[in-house]
Amino acid sequence: MHVSLPKDRMPKESLRPDVAFHLVYDELMLDGNARQNLATFCQTWFDDEIHKLMDLSIDKNMIDKDEYPATADIENYCVHMLADLWSAPSAAATIGCSTTGSSEAAMLGGLAMKWRWRDRQARANRNTERPNLITGPVQVCWHKFARYFDVELREVPLARDRLGLTPDEVLKRVDENTIGVVPTLGVTFTCQYEPVAEIAAALDKLQGETGLDVPIHVDAASGGFIAPFVHPELACDFRIPRVNSINTSGHKYGLAPLGVGWVLWRESHDLPEELVFRVNYLGGDMPTFALNFSRPGGQIICQYYLMLRLGKEGYRLIHEACYETARYLAGEIAAMGPFEIYFDGDSRFGIPAVSWTTRADARVGYSLFDISAHLRARGWQVAAYAMVPDISDVVVMRILVRHGLSRHMAELLIADLRRCLEYFERHPISHPMTASDGGTYNHDVTRS
Ligand SMILES: *Cc1c(COP(=O)(O)O)cnc(C)c1O
Repeated sequence: MHVSLPKDRMPKESLRPDVAFHLVYDELMLDGNARQNLATFCQTWFDDEIHKLMDLSIDKNMIDKDEYPATADIENYCVHMLADLWSAPSAAATIGCSTTGSSEAAMLGGLAMKWRWRDRQARANRNTERPNLITGPVQVCWHKFARYFDVELREVPLARDRLGLTPDEVLKRVDENTIGVVPTLGVTFTCQYEPVAEIAAALDKLQGETGLDVPIHVDAASGGFIAPFVHPELACDFRIPRVNSINTSGHKYGLAPLGVGWVLWRESHDLPEELVFRVNYLGGDMPTFALNFSRPGGQIICQYYLMLRLGKEGYRLIHEACYETARYLAGEIAAMGPFEIYFDGDSRFGIPAVSWTTRADARVGYSLFDISAHLRARGWQVAAYAMVPDISDVVVMRILVRHGLSRHMAELLIADLRRCLEYFERHPISHPMTASDGGTYNHDVTRS
């Protein structure tokens, strides 16, 4: 075809489907290869059965619970299994739902906290105007929640010697207008777990002294599908009475295709009744709590398939293999010389990932942004980012190890990283890249 692809106006005439398909297919070739995307937390490898189930459920709308009662049941099975996995005191009393991801789940969790706080304040005849939320260095969804729903975000700034939320920093910021505290299991920047139990203990003490009862919502976007399998003894879930709600992303370490997250509340009264809509639609009464209406069902069906297919044992084995690969990468990267490892993939302290920075005393003429751009030539997408905004002179590189990044692929990556450093030795860079010209890839990916 000697014409360029239409971009601004829909063509007047139709094309044959195979022709149109190939035009779209060719355009997509320019995308990065998802399996080599080591910047994302999201799952990028799927077995044939998942492809088949996605195809089977392409026409199922999650909102039509009356029309697709089996899909609705499957969603409930998943909620119950997660309640059990997160040690809810009574799986039957626990309430929860699927979402499009942790972002929607965070909005719902945040809204429930805001409503409950307002109710507490109103009953005590106190001000209900200025709610605040305390977090560590959170994923962008909590910034969105705060802005969209008018809540002051008290985000504890990063410091060189403190890369996550601590009980002391929480206590410095908490007051009667605090709707909740959000520790993260798998912080976006460093991949580490924040200390849920210690923060809860500090808030217990505060309640004993002042009467202030501040709930915790755990953002377990990644960790919620890892810790219960790999370290079931790590109590960072409903075993802690102060933890009222938890979210996770099914499409991250839950291994499901893109578009599924989960949010659960300890007991039904933790989710204010006013937030639940009872819609009478197409013949059925259904309670819903969601930002969306229509939504695909395939991801949720696949989530259930995965829980069934893998069981706890399967998830444990997969994630342990990922940790092993992460430890291998950390060891190799540390041995290269110029780098200092931030997080080495120790399963007790974070998710299967490695993060590192350039050693202060390393005399190298390139930046981590240059490395990121150079690796891209071999198809690898490795995030490099400044620790904005508080320690923006610290630049970090990060690899997420997910099911699908085999040991063999990790070895290929290490060989490419070595070649990259040798190349920079032979061809010194006159102007190393900085955060401001780090390129489109480097900035977006840290948040994904
Ligand atoms: C990925 C992530 C989110 C957002 O989750 P989505 O499923 O992409 O919407 C929120 N919090 C943390 C800690 C994350 O890692």
